[in-house]
Amino acid sequence: MLTSIAGRSVIVTGGSRGIGRGMARVFAAKGAQVLVVGRDLAQAEATAAAIRAEGGHASSFAADVGDAEDVERMAAAALERHGGIDILCANAGVFPAARMMEMTLAQWNEVLSTNLAGAFLSVRACVPALASCGRGRIVLTSSITGPITGYPGWTHYAASKAGQLGFMRTAALELTPLGVTINAVLPGNVRTEGLDELGEAYAAKMTASIPQARLGSVEDIAYAALFFASDEAGYITGQTLVIDGGQVLPESLMAIQDMDR
Ligand code: NAP
Repeated sequence: MLTSIAGRSVIVTGGSRGIGRGMARVFAAKGAQVLVVGRDLAQAEATAAAIRAEGGHASSFAADVGDAEDVERMAAAALERHGGIDILCANAGVFPAARMMEMTLAQWNEVLSTNLAGAFLSVRACVPALASCGRGRIVLTSSITGPITGYPGWTHYAASKAGQLGFMRTAALELTPLGVTINAVLPGNVRTEGLDELGEAYAAKMTASIPQARLGSVEDIAYAALFFASDEAGYITGQTLVIDGGQVLPESLMAIQDMDR
């Protein structure tokens, strides 16, 4: 049983849907005060309202994580509403597919700006408050794609997600004297609105390549984030946790076919 996080102030970027909404709901169910962040305020507010209807404490904030001023305002809003920031889930991300040889620099920059610069800007904006609380926690949502695996159509995405880990390892050293930890969850394929937009054929083929024969749920990822955010995880920093139903394990298609399932 982990120490209670009731009353702690949590920011979840990309909290309005998908994995971020799962994190927002799980943290709120544990009694945390959650700031749900996305570019679309109506969608973020719908998620915050649903959490409040379940008895949780949540409010919404509109910010583009790729915009430094937006992200500073986001941190200020959490400070004003909750009196501090204990936990940052830097989760916002995009994954539009584009083959490398057809990719424009604008497409590349859009993904790097949201996924990699967005993580840096979110962390930088929240660190002063995270340091003040004495046990600040940062959880990045990276991916298996990039750090461990590759997939045609996602060179920009893979670079952003691997880049997050390089950022994290050095940030961990800079943040340790401030009493702040930073770790990353690496989801496999998780059933979210964003994944649904890739089409049912993608989801079905992906499911077949996962040893546990199912896509991840947003709660699968949220509980890993909750662990990194706990007091008990205070001696862990700069580390990763893969949550993928065993997806990265088979050495070949044959290995999956030879499983007794
Ligand atoms: P999703 O369903 O598309 O949700 C993305 C969330 O991020 C939304 O709340 C969206 O809200 C927000 N967002 C996007 N761009 C933003 C920006 N520039 N500023 C602020 N918020 C922004 O995606 P998901 O599948 O839950 O993925 C969430 C994270 O998990 C991403 O970092 C993704 O790379 C990672 N991940 C997902 C999977 C998967 O299988 N689903 C696997 C590995 C890693 P607005 O559009 O309103 O801004």
